[in-house]
Amino acid sequence: MSADQTTSQAALRHQGCPRPPSPTLRARDARVIANIGRLRFSPLSLVGGRGNHLIEEGGRELLDLSASFGPAILGYSHPAIATAVNAATASMAGASLLAFPNENAVALAEQLLAITPGSGERRVWFGHSGSDANDCALRVVQAATGRSRFISFIGSYHGNLSGSMSISGHTAMTHTLPRAGLVLLPYPDPYRPSFSAEEVLRLLDYQFATSCPPQQVAGIFIEPLMSDAGVIVPPGGFLAAIQQRCRRHSIQLIVDEVKAGLGRSGRLHCFEHEGLEPDLVVFGKGLGGGLPLSALIGPRAIMDHAAAFALQTTGGNPVATAAGLAVLRTLAAEGLVERAANLGQALAGRLRALISRQPMIGDVRGRGLAIGIELVRDQATREAVPVATTAKVIYRAWQLGAVLFYVGLRGNVLELTPPLTLSDAEAERGVAIIDQALTDVGRGLVADADVAPFMMW
Ligand SMILES: *Cc1c(COP(=O)(O)O)cnc(C)c1O
Repeated sequence: MSADQTTSQAALRHQGCPRPPSPTLRARDARVIANIGRLRFSPLSLVGGRGNHLIEEGGRELLDLSASFGPAILGYSHPAIATAVNAATASMAGASLLAFPNENAVALAEQLLAITPGSGERRVWFGHSGSDANDCALRVVQAATGRSRFISFIGSYHGNLSGSMSISGHTAMTHTLPRAGLVLLPYPDPYRPSFSAEEVLRLLDYQFATSCPPQQVAGIFIEPLMSDAGVIVPPGGFLAAIQQRCRRHSIQLIVDEVKAGLGRSGRLHCFEHEGLEPDLVVFGKGLGGGLPLSALIGPRAIMDHAAAFALQTTGGNPVATAAGLAVLRTLAAEGLVERAANLGQALAGRLRALISRQPMIGDVRGRGLAIGIELVRDQATREAVPVATTAKVIYRAWQLGAVLFYVGLRGNVLELTPPLTLSDAEAERGVAIIDQALTDVGRGLVADADVAPFMMW
């Protein structure tokens, strides 16, 4: 008898019996989950979630200020999503959009077109993640325009598949080379103005006039608010100036709304703050409310480039798109876009009020419920804290009962992207925990060894 057979017989003997006491979830995770897919910020292990709280192994409930990087736009186990997904799985209209239409996918595409500004005939493509939708945009824009060069921004995060990664400029991605011909421009950061908006535009024009002729450029990928680079809100007018150059040179403007979109910024689309009308729009994260779902909207001339050009078997499946419909319905029914605007403003205001007595806070910024808190050694010089310090604040917040992550090219920005359903009282508690965590880390309550495993980018 082989070793494999022995193991499977042992497994069979356990069927129907109480399981032997198991090691902790965290220890099992370390044994089986690949490190290449992990980005851990604390020892948190989850067994459940409800509302705006996550339930840790052992039963402790933690206030979630991350929405799991954004997808949990309605929190966890929202009845609208549970009901929609249950109904969609109870009678499944197939499991693929490729060979036949299904009601949920078509209805969601109709709604996305209706709520997204744009002119002319447009079409929708569905995928599973922000990464695949950006990959699809890259491939189809290149093929349909016959141009092969792209422009994107230093610090941008467009995904982790080969295409989306090849046009990203995040410091955590230097392990992978950018695609040939890519031009990476600085993104103007008002708090750290290495380059002003005018200087970036001048650099772009110089590129066009010299080594990157605009007629070779298929598209410009841009985040309307840089999330992973550190929650950077571009100076007013910058995005419009980029759009103007796209129009002038027939370059496709591809706006990545994956993280800041669908209400989080306090407008339905983050690009609306700057009055843009992008050629292509990429949705992900919040669109599925936690289920894998992304969408790409673009001009028909591009999106109908060729049949069977961007196939993913379960893209647009009736279950994920049911969740997408529930998300859009709930955003409207619960007034969550306005809520993100109002609560975001109040929350950022409360955090700003901490600046005078928390020397580590250099800046509080964002739009709506996408808020960044930049940590510094010195408010005057703006020198960034080391990443270990940021990690300690995250770790201490976990100990105190809140979940949040850090972002930023220097790893020194606390990122708040809570569910849009966050209550006033929860927001207040979140501020109190962050305040306490900063004080405690300043006092040296968290050791270097505690956070050593949690500085992954
Ligand atoms: C997260 C993110 C992506 C990638 O989405 P995945 O679902 O992780 O593939 C793309 N763009 C932006 C702006 C993001 O924040």
